[in-house]
Amino acid sequence: MDATLDELLDRCVSYHGHLCMGQTLGVRLALKGMELIGTSNPRQMIALIENDRCIADAIQIVTGTRIGRRSAKLVDLGKMAATFLNCETGVSWRVNIRQVDPAAKHGEAACRSVLCVPDAELLSWRRVRVQLKPEEMPGRPKKTVECACCGEKVFDNKDVAGADGPLCRACADGTYCVELTKEEE
Ligand SMILES: [Zn+2]
Ligand SMILES: [Zn+2]
Repeated sequence: MDATLDELLDRCVSYHGHLCMGQTLGVRLALKGMELIGTSNPRQMIALIENDRCIADAIQIVTGTRIGRRSAKLVDLGKMAATFLNCETGVSWRVNIRQVDPAAKHGEAACRSVLCVPDAELLSWRRVRVQLKPEEMPGRPKKTVECACCGEKVFDNKDVAGADGPLCRACADGTYCVELTKEEE
């Protein structure tokens, strides 16, 4: 069992790039989540991961869910938690980290030792109902429109209504980047 946990952790580390407490905690969150929802089939589950730091990589590696397949989703609340949905039964559980001994935060041995902390000490978990819209589920895009302003395609109902037709949210509200002017280039 321990060898299996260590192997899982090693897989996470090689994907993530370093061994850290986030990899260990991600392994523990993912294993507990899969146990609770009763599946380890990535085609049958969605993992909703509550931060975009280390745990996000480990949870995807252990569950086999992927952001690019819409089976993993980032719900960026900045929290050490994730919710696991069994798409066939509808059963969902949210699992979060209760505590990590501050003294155990650093060093390889400390990170590995957290693999063996009992579930009830490290984690808490609750039944939840996940509210996803049909267009948020895995599968082909259900709707594609062209933005009336920039002409780029917008999938999955992410557009908003504009006076001259659908708009992407970047054109409607502004976004994370702005185009440079000629002088700024
Ligand atoms: Zn890390
Ligand atoms: Zn646009």
